Amino acid sequence: MDQNIKKFDLAIIGASIAGNYLAYLLSKSNLEIVVIEEHEDIGLPFQCAGIISQKLSQLIELPEEIVLNRVKTAKIIGPSGNFINLSGNERPYVIDRIALDRLFYGKNKNTSNITYYLGERFRSFKYSVDNGHKCVLIETSKRLIKAKMLIGCDGPLSSVGKHLKVKNKLLYAAQIRIKGNFDENEAVMYFHPLWKQLFGWIVPEGNNVYRIGIASSKNVKKSFLIFLKKLGIDVDNKIDQQGGIIPYGIMNKSAFKNALLLGDAAGQVKATTGGGIVMLLTAARHASNCVKLSFKQNNFSKRFIKKHYEKSCLRTIGKELKLHYVIRLILERLTSEDFEVFFKIVKENKIEHIISLYGDMDFPKDLIFKLLKNPSVFTFLIKFSLKNPNIFIKLLKILTK
Ligand SMILES: Cc1cc2nc3c(=O)[nH]c(=O)nc-3n(C[C@H](O)[C@H](O)[C@H](O)COP(=O)(O)OP(=O)(O)OC[C@H]3O[C@@H](n4cnc5c(N)ncnc54)[C@H](O)[C@@H]3O)c2cc1C
Repeated sequence: MDQNIKKFDLAIIGASIAGNYLAYLLSKSNLEIVVIEEHEDIGLPFQCAGIISQKLSQLIELPEEIVLNRVKTAKIIGPSGNFINLSGNERPYVIDRIALDRLFYGKNKNTSNITYYLGERFRSFKYSVDNGHKCVLIETSKRLIKAKMLIGCDGPLSSVGKHLKVKNKLLYAAQIRIKGNFDENEAVMYFHPLWKQLFGWIVPEGNNVYRIGIASSKNVKKSFLIFLKKLGIDVDNKIDQQGGIIPYGIMNKSAFKNALLLGDAAGQVKATTGGGIVMLLTAARHASNCVKLSFKQNNFSKRFIKKHYEKSCLRTIGKELKLHYVIRLILERLTSEDFEVFFKIVKENKIEHIISLYGDMDFPKDLIFKLLKNPSVFTFLIKFSLKNPNIFIKLLKILTK
């Protein structure tokens, strides 16, 4: 361990998409930034289905080579095998996730004010003082670092979060990549009581390669094998396999004295799909603005960071994340019969068209309002609410706020 204390303005823990993108947003500031990543190789291990709404290209300049495929239809399959097909304006990207993580690292690594320490693990931090100013003293596996601000971009099991007494609720995921004969234009979601906290998925990567996975709160390995068997897939033919952890719930507390949390570390993930990338890219912009303002006004208090980061996140992605959570609670409680009834309503009332027109993978509020105007959907929801009154109250609170 190097006992000389290195000094930086800002320390970012985690060099995956959240950490690299935030460092990129701040690369033109004159802040001295250190990014600490426990792995030697950025983007590895690969743990993602890589399906992202087309908002991605509004948030970042998206190089063509990162897009492997575009999906035209979403097929939703209920426990009985019946399904609905949704297609419309939304044409999500299937991306090369490793390349996305490396995109901003590539832009940052030759920037004079950004230092990367790779293969180095954040261990702990405590509050300290430097030249009469409050700061954080960070201990990594290799050295001590003093910084005015600490940003936890260290994923679902965030160690920074643990030190700040924030803990995510977690789902566990399993995925394989395999050559197959499914539809290259279609992403599929399989709902089943065994993995009811999320769903099983088939995401077409292109070139007849498919990412097939499930996420659930327990028994993932066993459920995954059942799922693959249902699909008639021999796991031994896989190209490779991935695991992973997905936080769920609503956004955590993310503002602290001299510190903030971003991305999976802050639980900024849609509880309906486990997708986090659009949310964290949006939150990273708020984080970048807040960091610049904190340094400009020399104010690193929790109150200041809450006002300029956490509240901005709540106003933009926070409400929608709550809505995703309530939708997830509803989906979790739907019985096989409920799925059948709902699919019938969708087909008979041409609701596929409404979903196609107003469906937004990230921000579902407008679609929910449109759907509630349909008498059959409204009646379905009322019947469901009589069985689950608490969830209905939560949904109403979110929609009317
Ligand atoms: C199986 C699976 C499928 C998914 N599919 C999708 C999808 O299709 N679409 C979508 O939008 N999202 C998807 N997600 C979610 C998405 O991958 C995450 O939201 C996103 O990766 C979060 O980025 P992040 O930078 O916040 O955290 P992470 O990507 O988790 O990165 C955290 C980084 O911090 C590093 N780190 C952790 N602890 C330390 C430490 N103590 N010291 C130093 N470094 C540390 C890690 O090595 C890692 O590089 C999926 C997730 C999983 C698991």
